[in-house]
Amino acid sequence: MNSFKKASLSCGLSLIALLSSAVVVSTSWAQATASKTDTASVRTATQIEWLGQAGFRITTPGGKLIVVDPWIKGGPKTPAKYKNDFAALGKIDLLLVSHGHGDHLGDAPDLAKLNKTKLYGPADMVTPLIMIGALPADLGHRFNKSGTVKPLEGIKVTAVRADHSSLIVWPDAQGKPVSHAGGEPIGFIIELENGFKIWHMGDTGLFTDMAFIAQYYKPDLVMIPIGGNFTMGPEEAAYAIKTWIKPKMVLPMHYNSNPLTPGTLAEFQAAMKGSDIKIVPMTEGQTLNF
Ligand SMILES: [Zn+2]
Repeated sequence: MNSFKKASLSCGLSLIALLSSAVVVSTSWAQATASKTDTASVRTATQIEWLGQAGFRITTPGGKLIVVDPWIKGGPKTPAKYKNDFAALGKIDLLLVSHGHGDHLGDAPDLAKLNKTKLYGPADMVTPLIMIGALPADLGHRFNKSGTVKPLEGIKVTAVRADHSSLIVWPDAQGKPVSHAGGEPIGFIIELENGFKIWHMGDTGLFTDMAFIAQYYKPDLVMIPIGGNFTMGPEEAAYAIKTWIKPKMVLPMHYNSNPLTPGTLAEFQAAMKGSDIKIVPMTEGQTLNF
C-alpha cells in the first residue's frame, strides 16, 4: 500500500493540462437512440466523466448522479476542479465502491457523509468501515454477488464477481494506518432508466464466468481495467472482450495512473485489432454522452 501510494504520488502532476479539458463526444449508442426517438433523447443521454483510475461520475438519463470508486484527493489524475472541492462533483445520489483498496474506496466515506448518500459496496467491506467508525451505519448498504439493489427510481445495480482482493487500510484515532479485511471485491452491472447497461468491472483478473455475466446481463458498455500488475493488462482485457464479453462498446480504465499500472491504451487498441467492437478511449476529466 505504501509503495503504491508513493508511486501514485510520484507521477501526480504530469497531466494537469489534460485534466482541464472536458470534451463532449457523442457515441453510437446515443446516436442510435436519438435516431429512433427525437432530440429529447440526446438531452437526456447518459453522461460519463472519467475521474481517473476506476472513478466515474455518471449523470443518468433521469438526471441522477452516480459516482463509482471516487479516488479524489489522492488520485494522481483527478480532474483539478474536484481535487480540493468535493461539492464541485454535484449532489451525489448514489455512491458505488467495488472494493476496499485506497484507489477505489478513496474518499467515498467522506462523500457519503457530505451528501448524506448511502455507500453501496461489498457486504464485508461496508461492515468493517462501519465498525471502525469510518462510515455511519445508516450510510452503508451491504450487498453481494448476484444481489440486485434498486437505490433510485428506475435504476438497478447488481453486484457481480471480480477476481481481485480487498484490504482496507484506514487511519486509527491517532492517524496511524491500520489494515482490515475488506471481504471480496465486486463489479457492478448498472442499469439506467432507459435500459442502458454499464458493466463496471472493478479491479479484476481474467475468469471464464465473464462470458456468463455478459450472456446473462447483456451490458452495452463495459468499463474494463487494462493497466496490468494488479489487474488484467491490455492483452488479457482484449481477450476477454473479444472472446467472452462481446459488448457494443468497451471503455478502458485503471491505467495511466502510476508506474504500477503500465498497460496503455495503444497496447489495448493493438490487441483489439480486427474486432468491430467500439473502443471508447477517454482522458481523465473528459465527459462523453452515451
Ligand atoms: Zn485498483
